[in-house]
Order: sequence, then structure tokens, then C-alpha cells
Amino acid sequence: MKFDYIPGASPARPQRRRLGLVAVLGLSVTAGLIQLGVREGSAVAGNSQPDSSGLHQNLAASALETNSAAGGQGGADFDGIIQTAVKDALTVPEASQWTTVSVKSGQSLSVIFDALGLAHDEVFSLLSLGGEVQRLKKLNAGDELHIRVADDRLEGLTYALDERRTLEVRRGDHGLEAVTLTAEIERHSTEVAGEIRDSLFLDGRRAKLSDRLIMELADIFGYDIDFAQDLHPGDRFAVVYDQLYKGNKKLRDGDILAAEFTNQGRKLRAVRFTTPDGNTAYYTPQGQSLRKAFIRTPVDFARISSPFNLRRLHPILHTIRAHKGTDYAAGTGTPIKATGDGKISFQGKKSGYGNVVMIKHGSGVETLYAHMSRFRSGLSVGSRVRQGQVIGYVGNSGLATAPHLHYEFRIDGIHKNPMTVPLPRANPVDPRYMARFRTDSATMVAALERADTRLASASPANKK
Ligand SMILES: [Zn+2]
Repeated sequence: MKFDYIPGASPARPQRRRLGLVAVLGLSVTAGLIQLGVREGSAVAGNSQPDSSGLHQNLAASALETNSAAGGQGGADFDGIIQTAVKDALTVPEASQWTTVSVKSGQSLSVIFDALGLAHDEVFSLLSLGGEVQRLKKLNAGDELHIRVADDRLEGLTYALDERRTLEVRRGDHGLEAVTLTAEIERHSTEVAGEIRDSLFLDGRRAKLSDRLIMELADIFGYDIDFAQDLHPGDRFAVVYDQLYKGNKKLRDGDILAAEFTNQGRKLRAVRFTTPDGNTAYYTPQGQSLRKAFIRTPVDFARISSPFNLRRLHPILHTIRAHKGTDYAAGTGTPIKATGDGKISFQGKKSGYGNVVMIKHGSGVETLYAHMSRFRSGLSVGSRVRQGQVIGYVGNSGLATAPHLHYEFRIDGIHKNPMTVPLPRANPVDPRYMARFRTDSATMVAALERADTRLASASPANKK
């Protein structure tokens, strides 16, 4: 899958926000070839595509959710436990899109990337951009990096070069792009809206959104809308996003500031918000997180070979044994992702389970991943992992007839059906920042409504 780059529209109603910085030093764009290389341990073709894996993750997860899953829930107190888990969601670690890293003495970029679970070639891809990016080779203690990671790929990085210049790296349609922001660079926010006639991609492009922004839009609402199955003609979207300009020349798109999707009459809105300590995420205008504390499925492009079932005939032992997890058939070496933020509580062999990783997530939730061929290097008991971070690779260690992942989801030690267990939302906006959030949010909702109105007045139905 490869999409031609379509530059975004010039801003319909530019709102200028001057950055307090001075002169552009360079704009470098890779051809994206580096990112096309197949990654270590990846047996899944789609995983090497720079522009698609984020969406695929969501699509795969959503598509699998609709798969019928046999097996009971077990335990009448199930609802009560779930309610408690949801109520305690405040203690679930934040699934933030951006992480702020304060560089410690002697720490290199590769050490930092490793700790964030980035693929090993990401440092190389980044440094090969040249120019000011080379400064990242010599980090000083106390420097701050703002980093966005999706799965194990770098999506964005921001670094203050000095008091007046900021290095901004973003993944664009053709790979990583670096810009040095100075005062001559202005951000214009612009609004677009569109209606679904064919697909999110085609109609997003008709609305002049770049492929990257379309992916981001799908990502923002990916926990609530299954873009592979739920889209209907007449669904609508509106996006408010930044464009970076130097004089009259557009350098590239910035970030999505707010977005709206009306799916079969259900309107969802998202507002981007950055806390004073540098964590950025998307929230509803009321301040609820758009993300969930867990993704449904730990492997992309896998099919369910055996659902959760408390009365299953075991394929090897030929006895009735509860199957307390979901099996995903996938090739040996397929990356396995942590489904939520947490801490590794076990890594090693467990008889029939073979090579196992267990992660404690807070709120009494623990997940288990079995039959791995090997563990992700650099991780051990006590390591912190992020949602989507690769923790190991599919195999058939232990009692397994074919390579697959056996995945368990436990709440207070009780096994739940991973396919159907309600997943709590990630943290809402911190009450300390709520006043500021409400102000930002009101401005963004007004911009979304302007885009809505423009679309409505332009649509043929209103012209007769
Ligand atoms: Zn299993």
C-alpha cells in the first residue's frame, strides 16, 4: 500500500500564532526508504510499512472484537469487579501520546530510545536526517526531549536547540521530517470538514487532508470507531490542524488540534491538550480521555484460533480443561505488544505455557502472554512498558501444536474473556489543569462548529 502525497490545502481562515523564535535553518525530508526495511523479528509484511501500521493496529483490534467469542464470564461478581476497575481507572498509568524525557548524565539517544521500546533502527533513521538533528548525538544532562511513540516507531520528537530555536521531527507521509522552528515560522490553524461517500482515505483526501493526518484522525477515534466496518455514507468529519509556514511558503502540516467524527448520528469530539509538564493527549471536550487503558489485541494481523472457553477439550491433553485466555495464530517471530502500560511482573518459563511474560497494570489488572519464541531484548522483571510496546515474539514454546500467542486478562486474579472484557479509559484531564483545558476546549469546539457550518452550507442538500 503506497499513497501519493497530496499537499494540504492553504488555510481557509488562518489564525496566526507567532512563535517566539528566529530563523529557519533547514527542512530535511527522507525518501522514506529507510523506514521500509523489515524490522527485527517482524514476520508480518504490513509491519514494515511506515504509514499504515498504526491504523492497522486499530483496524485489526476492532475487527477482531466483532469475532464471536464463545465461553462464559464465570463468577457472578464479574460486573462488580469491572465497575471497581473502571472506578479505579484513575490509578491506571496514563497512556500518553507524548512522553517527556529528562536526559540523565551519560545517557545517549539510543539508551533513551531503548528504554521507550523503540525499534533498534529508529536512532539510525532519525540521525540520517542530518542537519540540526546531529545535535541529538551529543545530549547534555538536563536536556528535555518530547517524544511520541506508536508501537515501536518514532512518530515525533521535539528538542530545544537553544533559547530561540526548536528542533521538531515528525513522521510525515514519506518518513521522518525535521524542521528547525524559529520566529520566521508561523503556525496557521485551519479547519476542514468532509462527508464519507467512499472511505475515510478517499474522502479525507477530497477534504485536502494529507495521508498522515487521515491516519492520525483514525488513530484518535480508533478506540471508539471501527473504521473498517462502522463507516456509513453520510458520516461526517471535521478537523482543526496546524500548518507551518515561512512567509507564504507552506513547510508542512503540524498536529491535529481538534477533531470531530459523526458516525451513524453519534458525534465524537476530540481536543488535543498538553499539560505544563509536556504530556499531550486527546480528550473529549469534557476532559475524558479518548484512549483506553488497554488495546484489545496484542498481535496485529492475527486470527483467533481458540477463544476463551471455560469448558474446552484440550488439543494435546484431550481432556476438558478451561481455556482461560484467547489464542491468536500468527507466524513465529510476530511481535507481541503489551496491551496496556505497566510493569513486567514475570519473565521466564512456566511449564505448559513455555516462555511467558506477565505485566501488572494497576487496579488489580494483570495480563499474560505465553508460548513466546523469545523475549524482547532489554526487558526484564520490573521493566516499565508502554501500551503497544513490543515485549516478545510469537512462538510455540511449552505445550503448543503450532505457533500462537496465548493471551490472558486477569482482574484481581480472576480470568476474564480478553475479547469482551470492558476496557477502562485512560486518565482524564488532571483536575489541576481543568480550567485551562476548558478554555482551550471551548475555542476548539467553536472552530469545529465553523467547519461543520461551512460543510453544511456547501452540501447540495442545502442548495435547493
Ligand atoms: Zn491458549
